[in-house]
Amino acid sequence: MSETGAATTWPPNDPATWRHVPASSTPVDPDRVQKLLAAEWERFTADTSGSGEHNTRASESLPLGVTSSFQHWDPYPISIESARGAWLTDVDGRRLLDLSMGFGAMLVGHLNPVVVDHVTRALNETGTLFVTPSPQATEMSERYQERFGLGMLRFTNSGTESLMYAVRAARAYTGRKAVLKIEGGYHGGYDALQVSVKPALEDIGPADNPIPEVPFDVEAGDVYVVAYNDLEMLERVLCERGSEIAVLVIEPVVENLSIVVPDEGYLAAVREACDRHGVVLLFDEVKTGLTAGYAGAAQRLGVQPDLITLAKSIGGGLPLAAFGGKREVMEVVVDGRMAHFGTYNGNPLVMAAAKAVDEICTREALAGVEALNEKALSALDEVIATYELPAHTVGLGAKGCVTWSPTPVRNYRDYKAVDFGLAELSWLWGVNRNILTPPGLDEQWLVSLAHTTDDMDLLVSDFAELARALRD
Ligand code: PLP
Repeated sequence: MSETGAATTWPPNDPATWRHVPASSTPVDPDRVQKLLAAEWERFTADTSGSGEHNTRASESLPLGVTSSFQHWDPYPISIESARGAWLTDVDGRRLLDLSMGFGAMLVGHLNPVVVDHVTRALNETGTLFVTPSPQATEMSERYQERFGLGMLRFTNSGTESLMYAVRAARAYTGRKAVLKIEGGYHGGYDALQVSVKPALEDIGPADNPIPEVPFDVEAGDVYVVAYNDLEMLERVLCERGSEIAVLVIEPVVENLSIVVPDEGYLAAVREACDRHGVVLLFDEVKTGLTAGYAGAAQRLGVQPDLITLAKSIGGGLPLAAFGGKREVMEVVVDGRMAHFGTYNGNPLVMAAAKAVDEICTREALAGVEALNEKALSALDEVIATYELPAHTVGLGAKGCVTWSPTPVRNYRDYKAVDFGLAELSWLWGVNRNILTPPGLDEQWLVSLAHTTDDMDLLVSDFAELARALRD
C-alpha cells in the first residue's frame, strides 16, 4: 500500500500497510468540539425517533435492546430494517450508506446475488444440516487450504469459538497452558482472551511493564500481556515465562484499536522469537482475513503463523468461522490430544455461502476495492493537510480509518492518547448525514464489493464539511 515516516522519529510501518501522518498539524479548540457534539446529538435524536422508540421496546426483552453489546450506544443505536448492496434502511425510513458492513463481515455486500443464489439453491435442493461429512464441507476445506496456505483446518460458527479451539490446540500441542496476548487486543469472548481487552490505564501499571487486567467475571488462567510493536518487551517476557507459554495470540494488524499497523520487520521478528521459545504463533485473522487481500494478512505481510483464525468476511453474512494451520499442530485433533465438536460446523447452508464468497473474492475483485479505499484515503489525506487537522489515515486492504492523533498509534497506550472527542464527533457527523461507520471508536470502515466511487466520495465530502466546521 503506502509508507510514510521517512522524515519522522518513529519507525516506518510495514510497507504492505497504509499510514500517512501529516508533516504538521494545529490543535482543534476543544470548546468547539464540545459545542458541535452537543448540536449533533440534538440532531441525532430529532432525526431518529423511530430508532429511539424501537430501542425502548427492545430493551424490555433484550439487555440494552441489542443482541450483542457492541451494537449499543447511548442514548440508543439506529435500528435497521433491511440492507442491500452498500445501503441500509432504518426504521425511520432513512437510507444510510453502510461503511460498517457488519463490522467488516459484509465484504461482498448485502444480499450479494451470487451468495443469494448459492444459499437459495442449498435451501431448495440440498438441505441445511446433516451432521455428517459432506462434499460441500470437504470442498470448502480444500479451497481454504489452497487460498490461505493451511495444512489442515476445521470450521466453527464464530470467531470466539475459533479462538477458543485454537488456543486449546496450541496447549495440546505444546503441553503448556499459559497464553500471551497483546495489551488492548480483542479476540472475542473466550475467557483467556478477556484479559486486558480495553483496560483503564490506572489498572495496568507502567507502559514498559504492563499488568494484565482480568475482569471479575472471567476465569482466565495464566495470561501475560505485551505491547504491540515492542520486540524488547516480547523478548523479556519470553525469556522469563517462555517455558510456560503455549501461544501468542495476536492480530497481525490490530483492527480493534481503529487500525494499528506493524512496524516494518516486527511480525518477522515475532515469528522468530516464538520459534526460539517453542511458542505457537496464532494470527487472529477474524477481522483481517479476506479484507486484507486474497489470502489474508499473513500472506500479504509475508509471515507464516502456526495457526490462524478466520470468521466475518469468509461467510458472506452467514455465521461461518474456521481455525487451522500447520498440519503438525492440527494433528492434535487427529490423535485425540484435543477434542473439537460442534453441531453446526460446516453445515451445507453456510458452506454454500462460503463457496460463493470464495468465487466472488478474486484477486482482481479485491484489488478493485483496495484501489477505491486508497483513493478515499488519499482524498482524506488532502483534507487533513488543507485544514491542518491533528489526524492521520491508516489502512489495510479494503479497510481504513482516520485516527485523531497527530502522531502514529503503535500500541494500546498510544491509542489511549487519541482525541476521542474528535473521534466521536467525526463518527456522529457521518451518522447524521446518513453515513454509518461502525459504532465504537475503535473500529474502521470497510469498502465492500458493492461500494462505488460515488459512495466513497460521500465519505470524503462529509469529512471535508466536518473539517470546515472545525476551523470556521
Ligand atoms: N477476533 C477478533 C479480532 C474480532 O474482532 C472478533 C469480533 O469482532 C472476534 C475474534 C470474535 O468473533 P465473533 O464475534 O464472531 O465471535
